[in-house]
Amino acid sequence: MSGRGGGRGWYYKQKYGGGASRNRQQQEQQGGQYGNQADEGYRGGSGNRQPEAAAPAGWDGDDDDVPSQAGYQAGSRLLGDAQQLFATLNRLDGKGYKAYRDIQGAWQFSGFQLIVDHCQGDPYAAPSRLRVQMPATVAALPPELWSSKLRRIALGDWLARKLAAEANRASAAAAGQAQGWHGAKGGDVTVDLPGQHVLERTAVLVSTAGDVEARFTVGLPAQGRSIMGPWAGQILTQHLARAVQAALMYPALDGASIWRHITTVEDTEVLRAALPGLGLVGFVGDGAILPRKSGASDLPMPPSAGLVPFSSPASLAVEVALPHRGRVRGMGIKQGITLIAGGGFHGKSTLLQALEAGVYNKVPDDGRELVVMLPDAVKVSAEDGRRVEAVDISNFINNLPGGSSTVAFRSDDASGSTSQAANIQEALELGASVLLMDEDTCATNFMMRDARMAALVAPAKEPITPFSSRIALLRAAGISTVLVMGGSGDYFEHADTVIVMDNYLPSDQTQAAHAIAAQHAATMAAVTEAAPAAAAAAAVGQPVRGGVKVTPRVPQCVYAGGQNDYRGVKTHVRGLHHIQYGDQDIQLSAAEQLVDKSQTRAVADALKWLQAQLQRQQQQQQQQGGKTLLQWLNELDAAIEQQGLDVLAPQLLGNLARPRRFEVAAAINRIRTLQMTQQQQQQQQ
Ligand code: ADP
Ligand code: MG
Repeated sequence: MSGRGGGRGWYYKQKYGGGASRNRQQQEQQGGQYGNQADEGYRGGSGNRQPEAAAPAGWDGDDDDVPSQAGYQAGSRLLGDAQQLFATLNRLDGKGYKAYRDIQGAWQFSGFQLIVDHCQGDPYAAPSRLRVQMPATVAALPPELWSSKLRRIALGDWLARKLAAEANRASAAAAGQAQGWHGAKGGDVTVDLPGQHVLERTAVLVSTAGDVEARFTVGLPAQGRSIMGPWAGQILTQHLARAVQAALMYPALDGASIWRHITTVEDTEVLRAALPGLGLVGFVGDGAILPRKSGASDLPMPPSAGLVPFSSPASLAVEVALPHRGRVRGMGIKQGITLIAGGGFHGKSTLLQALEAGVYNKVPDDGRELVVMLPDAVKVSAEDGRRVEAVDISNFINNLPGGSSTVAFRSDDASGSTSQAANIQEALELGASVLLMDEDTCATNFMMRDARMAALVAPAKEPITPFSSRIALLRAAGISTVLVMGGSGDYFEHADTVIVMDNYLPSDQTQAAHAIAAQHAATMAAVTEAAPAAAAAAAVGQPVRGGVKVTPRVPQCVYAGGQNDYRGVKTHVRGLHHIQYGDQDIQLSAAEQLVDKSQTRAVADALKWLQAQLQRQQQQQQQQGGKTLLQWLNELDAAIEQQGLDVLAPQLLGNLARPRRFEVAAAINRIRTLQMTQQQQQQQQ
């Protein structure tokens, strides 16, 4: 105990001066609005006294990555009230760190239960996982705030932000008290803080009955490797309790801010849902702020940085009536082919990036609340070096040197063009209806070939049919394309709409582009298609979607490593675009529509989910060819829809957000040990 400085006073009073009265006194001093209610918590008897909490049977791991039913169950047992939790922690003071597991279980506070799901095994492990469950009667959230699933998502998102802020305050307060305790570690209360997007997530969940569950982590404090009991008690029974009361109980909250959050999200959703009826795939509202603060910040560019708000050209303007905002005007992006042209640095990529993110809802004041895309719009790019497994890329690529199949193309090191073809085909396989592409990240030889090059390299020698020769076929199949292309006019003749960005403002140059295309038609004539695939290569099924070949694939094995049991294979999310899966690194930089690391965590769990499903299937010896990737991901989507994101991880994690199936597939498709077969063509009609 020596060496503790400034915090010593309260520490020893806590330790020796008796908890409850001291707690009460402190809370009154801090003048918390809900201090009295918290106070009651210390007296509130549950009558269900089980002060000697035992670690749940069977719990052995301190590794968060391994699913454990023990961790799941730990929360259900009521161990006592807040005062008893405080006493228990005092009793544990100075003991070995693992003794913290005595507090695993539920504790009755005033108005809510604190559930300690999992205590970390040592101070340097991933922090301990806790939940708070508060009944609707206590949270007192007006029913209109949780009357639909979308509202519950938006409300949970708002509450998570609020709780994160309050938890920060709690952590800071705890840290202040820890000052001068040399070697003290821990004390942080952490809530998974959402970014600019409002996603379905597990940080704060609101039930269909208005009950609230908040999930967070706490670094349980240690001196060296021994428990700092009184400090832990202070954090859990005071700082945390205060944060919960300040963040989850409606009377303390800014109701207008919550309502604005919900209505903003609802308007965006209605706008997105209105697109098909208007013949649109996307929409950019007038006044929208498309550029971000910096390449490293998703916040809106401030006006002082020379911001030019978006404004639609009259010819492309569309008006939509929204339930809360009323009528809004903006640029409609029509079904078909849209070309975004313009000089360098004039805002083309910025517009496309806003559209990419338009599949998600935004927080108020993001600037992109009225920028929407159809939910199944997928950004594709070239990605040389990626692995490709059994993808039919013969729409674009045929007759590769060496004779490797492009009907079931496999590569451990795809080229720019073959990777881009695979990225497109994989998106179509999962039902993408819009492809978003930017010349900045496309393979040039995949995008175009001019007459001179066609004269030099004979069609028979060129495996690639450029995208410009296929884009009309895609359109005929009902697949729209939004393409940024400032460097070539090859797409003019195909484009239904040509938008030219000029000083960050769009103008409609469709007619001019079409006139130029007609004038220069002769020079385009020599652009050819590559030779079609040899008929013999078409041994497997090639379902055709309006002339576009898309061959569904059946996953056989996701992870093949040293361990047979999928539970032994750990995933670790190293960054927004980086999952470590066992001994493999999965790079997801090309999955540009991953917007939140919590989505990436869910994607990582989805890999394990799929592997487990496949293994179960194998054990049951189901040989009927198996489900396609699309069927699996539809199943996963349905399970999440019904049971929430917890289907992905039994530990009740608080840091998951919902990914789209395209991003889940992006990770699956890049696993180096992935084994896929192509679905055989149906024999019967
Ligand atoms: P392009 O793709 O046409 O070369 P970018 O979209 O990359 O251009 O934009 C170039 C720069 O202009 C970026 O730094 C971006 O932040 C900035 N920018 C984009 N749109 C706007 C805007 N509406 N107002 C102010 N700056 C913008
Ligand atoms: Mg660009």
